[in-house]
Amino acid sequence: MKYLPLFIDLKNKPVLVIGGGSVALRKIQMLQRVGAMIKVIAHTICPELKKLLLKKNINWIGKKFTPFMLNKVILVIIATNDAKLNTLIYNNANKYHILVNTVDDQSKCSCIFPAIIDRNPILIGISSCGTAPMLARILREKFELLLPQTLGYIAKFASLWRNTVKKHIINTVHRRRFWEKVFYDDHIVPLITRNRFKEAKKKFFSTLLNIKHNNSFKTGHVTLVGAGPGDIGLLTIKGLQAIQQADVILYDCLVNSDILDLARRDTDKICVGKHIGNHIMPQKQLNQFIIQLAKSGHKVVRLKGGDPFIFGRGGEELQKISEAGIPFQVVPGITAGTGVAAYAGIPLTHREYAHGVTFITGYNINNNKKFNWNSLSDTQQTLVIYMGKVNTVNISNNLIKCGRHINTPVAVISNGTYNNQKILIGTLIELEKLAKLVDYPTLFIIGNVVSLHNKINWFGKTALYSHKINSIINTVTKDYI
Ligand code: SAH
Repeated sequence: MKYLPLFIDLKNKPVLVIGGGSVALRKIQMLQRVGAMIKVIAHTICPELKKLLLKKNINWIGKKFTPFMLNKVILVIIATNDAKLNTLIYNNANKYHILVNTVDDQSKCSCIFPAIIDRNPILIGISSCGTAPMLARILREKFELLLPQTLGYIAKFASLWRNTVKKHIINTVHRRRFWEKVFYDDHIVPLITRNRFKEAKKKFFSTLLNIKHNNSFKTGHVTLVGAGPGDIGLLTIKGLQAIQQADVILYDCLVNSDILDLARRDTDKICVGKHIGNHIMPQKQLNQFIIQLAKSGHKVVRLKGGDPFIFGRGGEELQKISEAGIPFQVVPGITAGTGVAAYAGIPLTHREYAHGVTFITGYNINNNKKFNWNSLSDTQQTLVIYMGKVNTVNISNNLIKCGRHINTPVAVISNGTYNNQKILIGTLIELEKLAKLVDYPTLFIIGNVVSLHNKINWFGKTALYSHKINSIINTVTKDYI
């Protein structure tokens, strides 16, 4: 982040504007809205500025800039097209650490004006940090359409009762929960937006007293959320809502860190594991931790990569949470098997190639004496293998033994759905060699459907094929991987 978004109170604060044309006028009109004390330096001023001068809304302090004019000024806006003069003013202001905005010249800005959506007192500023102002403007238009004009009423209504609520609900977590209830309420907000303040107030206070007397925020709850396999766009809307309402998020290493940025800033985000065999917090301790957090009133989101019920131990965690009497819910996610396959252009079923699909985990499979390899012999079944990288030889040997042909197509996909997704394609006998060439997390897809990648790959680089890897392993592969 190059700039810190900040809302500044400029009421009665001295701001210097250099320039007297239409560009300066636009900035001055904005400064007037916040009550700044505006001083202008310009050779001549346009008729609109003359009107402001007559009304004493601005102070025209001179025709020529001299450094002493910066005295006691907190912000300088340069709106001239004289590049030499702009540099002179910018350098002088910088020397005294005065904030400078030079219109249309980002190289001479220590602060920039965002595109603004104004629903007083709600303000939204959007900036591309000088890289693409047009994009910021388009985003602004989108938000303008999205946000009701009445948004400001809701904030004003809330501000009236802020202190009252503080007095009645002392605990900050409980208070936050109360406000969430109010803002998500199906009655209060619509009443406010329809100007029916009396009824809104009645409902507001009945909610407040109800909560105060029933102490209904005493216990928190747990939401088990699937974050999807990587691409942030694969998070569900319900998952996003849970994340944004969470007091604490306990997440696994597989979760895309960009998803955590979608949470509130005051949400505690704690990494609790896990890479294979590398658990930051042992499962038993983690279960206890979740229960303890919920019991002390927190809204806990347990965020897992992919889908929490697919090789995610989500079921085990919920068993303990349920035994402890904690309320919980589950928000499914897109599992790596389907998400990664889709982004690799490999349909897991296809009428001509596979009539079914099986998901298995390769983790500990060699120690599992009861595992029925023969059930995987059907060539019309696609196999999706999670966590297979640690057991590649065992997997390929057993599949060949149970009847899968050595030339069965396999895809080894790492970082699926991310921009650095890599796909290697070869045959079952080559599985170990391919798996060694990629990083964690890696998914195997085995079966004839893999050959469809060639035609319907749509995301990222196309696959690197094993016959090419053989001949150019030391050149292109390095580059590719
Ligand atoms: N609950 C998760 C799976 C957890 S097991 C889900 O539903 O997806 C972890 C394994 O998932 C990894 O070892 C890997 O095999 C697979 N995996 C998860 N994300 C992946 C990704 N982006 N690319 C490739 N494989 C992935």
